[in-house]
Amino acid sequence: MRMGLPTKLVRPSVRALHAYVPGEQPKIPGLIKLNTNENPYPPSPQVLRAVRAAVDGRLRLYPNPTAEALRERLAALHGCRPENIVVGNGSDELLALATRTFVEPRVRGGRLDAQAAASTVQYFTPSYSLYPVLADIHGAQHAAVPLAGDFGLPAPGALNRMRRNGRGEWTPSAALTFITTPNAPSGRGYAIGELEGLCNALRGVVVLDEAYVDFAQGHALELGLRLPNVLVARTFSKAYSLCFQRVGYFVGHPDLIAALHKVKDSYNVNGLGQVAALATLDDLAYYRAKFARIVQTREALRRDLAALGFSVLPSQTNFVLARPPRFSAEEWLARLRDRRILVRWFAAPSVRDYLRITVGTPEAMGALIEAVRAILDSGIGLTARGKRAEEAGRHA
Ligand SMILES: *Cc1c(COP(=O)(O)O)cnc(C)c1O
Repeated sequence: MRMGLPTKLVRPSVRALHAYVPGEQPKIPGLIKLNTNENPYPPSPQVLRAVRAAVDGRLRLYPNPTAEALRERLAALHGCRPENIVVGNGSDELLALATRTFVEPRVRGGRLDAQAAASTVQYFTPSYSLYPVLADIHGAQHAAVPLAGDFGLPAPGALNRMRRNGRGEWTPSAALTFITTPNAPSGRGYAIGELEGLCNALRGVVVLDEAYVDFAQGHALELGLRLPNVLVARTFSKAYSLCFQRVGYFVGHPDLIAALHKVKDSYNVNGLGQVAALATLDDLAYYRAKFARIVQTREALRRDLAALGFSVLPSQTNFVLARPPRFSAEEWLARLRDRRILVRWFAAPSVRDYLRITVGTPEAMGALIEAVRAILDSGIGLTARGKRAEEAGRHA
């Protein structure tokens, strides 16, 4: 078949790219949406007022190019200087920016030698599936390092063996390593000592992606301020109910931050996002009360699912990873969707037996548990869709 002319104009690596697949945002009335880890509670009233008050003739003006006021407030919050902080259009933008700033496009051929390591993006699996896509877009290579069976970080000895045997792809000199902490999609948290050991073993830049850290028992921000190769990624999206506004930031060594500022677009963070984030920092008590409530709902959800035969992993996030009984996880996805409850399922082998369920309001969790009960009561035979999924699974 002849490739169309416009397609020929696209870089071959982009033509071959498997794009990142975001969780669905369907407009089904009455849908209970538990698939993208959004906060079920709205932003604080003060934040909504601040955004409304900023919508006037000033929209014609460019926003502050480096989000100065926000960086100053964040610096005060974290006990550092504004030079330790870069703000992005969501932390996703910053992850891409880190790839462009610290990783050389691919060196062709050869083993993972020193030169190739300079163009290697490393990450653990399973974790955030955007990382390999960023590497592919940039023309870098990836090193996917499997987590332990319980989604823990592999011990130093295990990592060294992966390297020697050439079985895994552990690359201590990788230009950039992403670590999702707490981990997604498992929800597992990691001790700061363990993270520090890894950061010290790595010679390139390490991004500790703390998107869910507000729901965890601890954080590793101090590593971004203490170790010269570590950037800690935070976002206003999940914990601070601002997905719509797109604001995230890195904390790290001023030299790394300065390099990122050189590469970023001039006006990367929109003005209303800066306003909303600043107002958020004025009302942290509101959010901390919500975190406590979500953590409480999470633990109740874990107990309720376990009582129904689910195997639920401990979670330090606003979601749980649960292995359902009776039907395959993919079948559960379809059956819950039939009842207007949307959860997330990933086909990757390490997690395909699990559902990832966002913690919502107690009411939403009540509806979920009711639906689970109904499915368990009703279902001996498979739905048509489930049968098809099962067939596909058998032939895969
Ligand atoms: C949601 C998420 C992000 C992206 O957050 P934004 O700030 O909305 O771009 C980054 N990393 C992980 C692990 C996430 O789950």
